[in-house]
Amino acid sequence: MRANRKLEARLKARYLTEQRKKLLSYLSEHTDEQITIRQIADALSKENISVSAIYRNLSSLEEEGLLKRSVREGTREVFYQYISSDKCKDNLHLSCRICGKSLHLGEQEANQLIQRTLESTGFQIDKNETVLYGICANCRKIKDAKKNG
Ligand SMILES: [Zn+2]
Ligand SMILES: [Zn+2]
Repeated sequence: MRANRKLEARLKARYLTEQRKKLLSYLSEHTDEQITIRQIADALSKENISVSAIYRNLSSLEEEGLLKRSVREGTREVFYQYISSDKCKDNLHLSCRICGKSLHLGEQEANQLIQRTLESTGFQIDKNETVLYGICANCRKIKDAKKNG
């Protein structure tokens, strides 16, 4: 009886790890994109992962600091962004409020910003934890075109 339960627990744990792995591999292909739970669920629908398992895994990834959650302008939908890949390490992220795209601030600009903030306020910005929100060049163009047209 007890052995059975142990085995069950082990199988369950392995199953959860499998789900997490699949989720992580999907997320790492979509680094710096803002994705909704629905998109993730659709993409993983063939992989036998339930939506509740996705929720569970996302919130644990968020607790571990591997995921950032945000809400985009004009919508209440929650977006997740995976930023833990090697590409993203030590980069300061700029995130567009309109289209949700992210880009990396150049290393030199980031260091200047951090250095100046430190000098003027004594506050040390944590690059890995910081996302600056704004409007990307492309969306600004569209906005300007609307304004002028
Ligand atoms: Zn990045
Ligand atoms: Zn944009």
